[in-house]
Amino acid sequence: MMGQMMQRPLQIIELLRYGAEIFPEAGVVSRRCEGDIHRQSYPETMARVAQLAHGLAERGVQPGDRIATLAWNTHRHFEIYYAVSGMGAVCHTLNPRLSPEQMLYIIGHAEDRLLFVDLTFVPLVHALADKLPEGMRFVVMTDRAHMPDSPLELICYEDLLDGKPDSYDWPDMDENTAAGLCYTSGTTGNPKGALYSHRSTVLHALAVGLALNSSLREGANILPVVPMFHVNAWGLPYAAPLTGASLIMPGPGLDGPSLWDLMDGENVTSAWGVPTVWLGLQNEIAARGGNPAGFEQVVIGGSAAPRTMIEAFEQSGVSVCHAWGMTEMSPVGTHGILNASMQDLPFETRMDLQSKQGRRVFGCEMKIVDEEGQRLPHDGKAVGELYVRGNQVIAGYFHNDEATEAAMDAEGWFGTGDVASIDAAGFLTIQDRAKDLIKSGGEWISSIDLESCALAHPEVANCAVIAIAHPKWDERPLLVVVPKGEAHVTLEDIHALMEPHFAKWQLPDDVVFVDEMPLTATGKVSKRTLRAQFADYVLPDLPEG
Ligand code: ADP
Repeated sequence: MMGQMMQRPLQIIELLRYGAEIFPEAGVVSRRCEGDIHRQSYPETMARVAQLAHGLAERGVQPGDRIATLAWNTHRHFEIYYAVSGMGAVCHTLNPRLSPEQMLYIIGHAEDRLLFVDLTFVPLVHALADKLPEGMRFVVMTDRAHMPDSPLELICYEDLLDGKPDSYDWPDMDENTAAGLCYTSGTTGNPKGALYSHRSTVLHALAVGLALNSSLREGANILPVVPMFHVNAWGLPYAAPLTGASLIMPGPGLDGPSLWDLMDGENVTSAWGVPTVWLGLQNEIAARGGNPAGFEQVVIGGSAAPRTMIEAFEQSGVSVCHAWGMTEMSPVGTHGILNASMQDLPFETRMDLQSKQGRRVFGCEMKIVDEEGQRLPHDGKAVGELYVRGNQVIAGYFHNDEATEAAMDAEGWFGTGDVASIDAAGFLTIQDRAKDLIKSGGEWISSIDLESCALAHPEVANCAVIAIAHPKWDERPLLVVVPKGEAHVTLEDIHALMEPHFAKWQLPDDVVFVDEMPLTATGKVSKRTLRAQFADYVLPDLPEG
């Protein structure tokens, strides 16, 4: 027998409509590209979103059109998310850190019709202009007074809104209608598109809001350092209005001093981003002699959070939530919020738990499998490839059957390309990306574990471990270090630090130094660049043992 209940489609605009009605004092604070701080409540934002939708409708935007953005985290970018999806069009966030070639590929593949662009990226658009699809239109996200000179015909964002009605007749849509499009950075081959629906986005917002309710709550001020062009800033633009949290948008200022000042000035309670950003903030905290006012919690994801980073935050009174996910998962899959009984564990035991990648959010199932695809036990020991399933996970890549086929298994689960273990309590430990694992003499060495350990050395500012080809062992680990200050750590020191935690054959064969780490378009250490840089590196002959 079937239930007898109404079925209303899940729609993204409802998240903001709810936030505007129930939490009218919360809203969006932005450090704008123009340089000032701008504030608007959710009700004011809702009105501007309606005006923008009218402006876009007047310009002929139709349901299903792909509308691209090249923009920082600001209130205008937030408005575009809602207006575009609310009209039934698709908001396609472009990553400005990609190469021009990749960007052009993505714009062509997505068939973008209109591009919203921040002032910072207007020169980039000028550089690409003659290779962009014909008929593409450009809206500069600023007011009339700041409009740049251009050989292109540019529309001014504020002109689009000016004088338009502040309510809009949002259409009812099938909840499976496409709402957002985001391409992975394409570490191998061309970038691949994840096409989110209204349903997947709303369910993700509900799941993240529930799991991270210590962060996402009425009165909280949340700083998304993770860009809105990188998997929807981990869903924060959707979960914040739903839960009554305000968003503090950093605009282009993502360095340690800019972040510290913004956090202190705006009483940021919780900040979300990748480890590289927190290295910068931790240096600034050391330089200023303390945390920004009101700072309670940091959410770290995108790459493994080093244990020393977690410990330093925790010891200074900032609780750490270590999360894992990917573009294909909307993106949050797991989070590190502990149960009440775990909060009272001795510090070291608690750090053991918090260094893991956490436990699944509601709606995300996980399995690990061996090379034959057979399920492995969740006993904290067995290590295999991680597969996921759930309403927030892609069913396939946008217009890419080949990549879809390669990613999905026969049971319809999505292969993450990560190698992991899961313990009986559900904690996930990511050993590595399959392509970053180091295969030595038929055994695997986790680069993440070695890096986390090396970062505990006071002379190591940042580091990465990569595989170097070896005639006898296949591959051996090389430690690449960004030194802190003048002193250069020695291999002996590193071995002494690591020996208590690793087998001897797992230790790096050598240490080399670079001035700074190459980063990917999403702010992670680019091991592909490092592998190319050290492709001809010859390891020293170490004594066997
Ligand atoms: P890309 O880095 O290719 O732009 P994603 O941001 O979607 O794309 O990256 C997802 C990948 O990042 C995961 O598959 C995993 O390898 C890595 N990752 C994300 N969070 C963590 C974490 N907390 N610990 C270790 N690896 C992580």
